[in-house]
Amino acid sequence: MAITPMEVYKLLPKTNCKKCGEATCMSFAFKVINRERKLEDCTPLFEEKKYAPQLEELKKMLKGIEEATETGLIVDEELCSGCANCVVVCPVHASDDPYGMGSGYGPTIDDPILRIEDGVVKVINMKKCRRYGKNRILCVACRENCPSDAIRFVEG
Ligand code: SF4
Ligand code: SF4
Ligand code: SF4
Repeated sequence: MAITPMEVYKLLPKTNCKKCGEATCMSFAFKVINRERKLEDCTPLFEEKKYAPQLEELKKMLKGIEEATETGLIVDEELCSGCANCVVVCPVHASDDPYGMGSGYGPTIDDPILRIEDGVVKVINMKKCRRYGKNRILCVACRENCPSDAIRFVEG
């Protein structure tokens, strides 16, 4: 499931203090989801101890979005049919786990980049993606082989 602005909003201070430069916490929540603003722009969340538990939850919730910022890769689970094409064609899987991929069972390693769970693809370990980190290359194999257009790359 995609994260909704409402889920982010619920964990924000909800004071509409405007310190982030937005008129309301709700508009800030929208921009965080769209990657136009970072959580750090909400200074009360970081400075006031009473918000610490909410901050932890928000960090966990937004982990996928942060990784997308790094790799540009976003999976839309609503569109995904669970066909596993992306899992099979990923060159990192092929090189790390030739047995699993060659056998047709999919990755047998504990930390593949992508894995099918409950009928949809999940991002398990984005740090192994070729698009991650300072030596990144703009690999597009998973997107090019997705018949449902469930994978997008957001650049920048
Ligand atoms: S700084 Fe935080 S609490 Fe203040 S309006 Fe922005 S999101 Fe809301
Ligand atoms: S971008 Fe390339 S390396 Fe990254 S998950 Fe897709 S196929 Fe694998
Ligand atoms: S190729 Fe597309 S539809 Fe198939 S599992 Fe991957 S993301 Fe889902």
